[in-house]
Amino acid sequence: MKFLVDFMLGRLHCWLCILGYDCLYFKREPFSGFKGKKDLIYQSLKESRIILSRDTTLSRKKALKLVLIKSDFLPEQLAQVFKTFDLKLDKNKIFSRCTICNTLLIRVDRLKVEGKVPAYVYQTQKEFSLCPFCRKIYWKGTHWKLVEEEIKKMLSL
Ligand SMILES: [Zn+2]
Repeated sequence: MKFLVDFMLGRLHCWLCILGYDCLYFKREPFSGFKGKKDLIYQSLKESRIILSRDTTLSRKKALKLVLIKSDFLPEQLAQVFKTFDLKLDKNKIFSRCTICNTLLIRVDRLKVEGKVPAYVYQTQKEFSLCPFCRKIYWKGTHWKLVEEEIKKMLSL
């Protein structure tokens, strides 16, 4: 399942990314006149992505699949997506994708990241992942637990 998240839903995109879903953020450029609704639909068809949008003027007929997100609030938005697609929280998928470019991360040996991450991180963390595309290094750290708790709270709505 692949998503294309429309502008105005930046935080939802972030969280779906953190949770390991294949999702791209569609940044509209309303003033340049280039990236608009048509491009959104076109990209969704080309890449077989489900559109998540707040825009009620989008045509349901043209899109492959379009889900109109009802709420302005992140927890409800996330809950709607999970409910609509019957998604289950998969701990192993959390932080499995790069939050910048959506590429699947690969595990890297701890020794290879020495000097590339802050010293205290290197000393305290055992597991590291790398984005093979943009070379960003990830580690689970303490925020991993926070993310898990946060998600559980949100989905219990
Ligand atoms: Zn990346």
